[in-house]
Amino acid sequence: MRHIAIVGSGPAGYYAAEACQKQFGDAVRVDILDRLPVPFGLIRSGVAPDHQSIKAVSRRYEAVALTDNVRFVGKLSIGWDVTIAELTALYDAVILATGAPADRALGIAGEDLPGVIGSAAFVGWYNGHPDFADLDPPIDGSDVVIIGNGNVALDCARILAKSEAEFAGSDVVAHAFARLTGARARSITILGRRGPQQIAMTPKELGELGALERASAHVDPADLPPEPCDAGLEPGQRKSVALLRGFARTPAEKALAIRFDFFGQPVAVEGDGRAERLVVERTRLGPDGGAIGTGETYTLPAGLIISCIGYRTSPIPDVPYDEKRGRFANEEGRIVPGLYCVGWARRGPTGTIGTNKPDGFLIAEEIAADQPEAAGKPGREGLDALVAERSLDIVTFRDWQKIDRAEIERARAGAPREKFVTVEDMVTASRG
Ligand code: NAP
Repeated sequence: MRHIAIVGSGPAGYYAAEACQKQFGDAVRVDILDRLPVPFGLIRSGVAPDHQSIKAVSRRYEAVALTDNVRFVGKLSIGWDVTIAELTALYDAVILATGAPADRALGIAGEDLPGVIGSAAFVGWYNGHPDFADLDPPIDGSDVVIIGNGNVALDCARILAKSEAEFAGSDVVAHAFARLTGARARSITILGRRGPQQIAMTPKELGELGALERASAHVDPADLPPEPCDAGLEPGQRKSVALLRGFARTPAEKALAIRFDFFGQPVAVEGDGRAERLVVERTRLGPDGGAIGTGETYTLPAGLIISCIGYRTSPIPDVPYDEKRGRFANEEGRIVPGLYCVGWARRGPTGTIGTNKPDGFLIAEEIAADQPEAAGKPGREGLDALVAERSLDIVTFRDWQKIDRAEIERARAGAPREKFVTVEDMVTASRG
């Protein structure tokens, strides 16, 4: 029997489990380990609460989790409760699928001031991730600046702008729902260091921003290049730029304006003990398409600054780490034979959920190539012994199903669930 441990129960973890099942058939046992008592990682804590159709993919992961040769072990922190050396001694292969849950730093003066928040924290807050349940972002009456021109910036802007009715059917957690629909942001600016043709946003998500009940999106026509230039863009990007051109014609009739501010890079956050304004430098496109500062600066009022500029994988003790790229040091997913990584922990934080699927197959093939035969390691029995010896209070998939049922039962009217937002409450529900 071949024993494989996968660290992280998000999309990359479950696709890797599925690939290992396909590669090794009945001759494999897979343990999926997660530091939280609840599975599905980014699907639960990253995908926007109003994108329930994307979250539905967790049903596929559930089917994998319920097969005989796969099990979920929650509330087990690898690197801390159990070391990487212990895990690699117990399993034929260990696959790190821990994603990229930490915010990249802006690297500008004043970014530590209260009121400056990374998107991992803000998204984690409205999605009920236990690490960010107490975030308390200063939304009320604030001018909000969202830094970055990717889909996460769009998620943050849309969630801040939605009306109470527009949250119907979402699983936004109660603490965030109350704040988001209470005292509102005064204005929202989405700051991009390059131009409309260089955005990393996709048309569906941009279209959603243009169809909000109480907010309208606006682009300064002067930022748009002449329309014939769009012909050289690939079709998806052309659609996105067409939507931005539409935003340049939108009348400012709604209660809240979401303003795109292109060709501006953040240089400093200023304020008396908290963020009050963002200093921005005008940019132009350089010959390689990158942003070049022009030296001209201006300030944007900003009581809340959400930086949506990408993520980093969190290091794990004793695992080689590529500081520059913010992910595990690896060659095509191989860290060393016996220790692998998949998903954002391997590639960095880009791509859709489905992009993780081929990663899983690549790693399953590498494991087969590195170790044609299983080495007779103890696998899950060894892990169970270690867990018992250390009196670790782990959570099983059956326990998660109890948490799941309790969350569904306590949902407010029209919502699919009301998540527990502390590990203690999750564990209590799992024991109930
Ligand atoms: P992203 O797509 O990589 O966008 C990051 C943005 O931040 C870019 O506009 C980038 O500008 C900008 N940026 C980076 N460093 C900066 C700096 N120092 N100062 C100012 N701006 C900076 O990342 P993301 O939005 O976090 O999304 C991550 C992945 O998840 C993406 O693949 C995204 O499509 C996906 N996602 C998908 C959905 C969905 O499908 N609904 C939702 C959310 C996320 P430059 O281009 O100039 O570098």
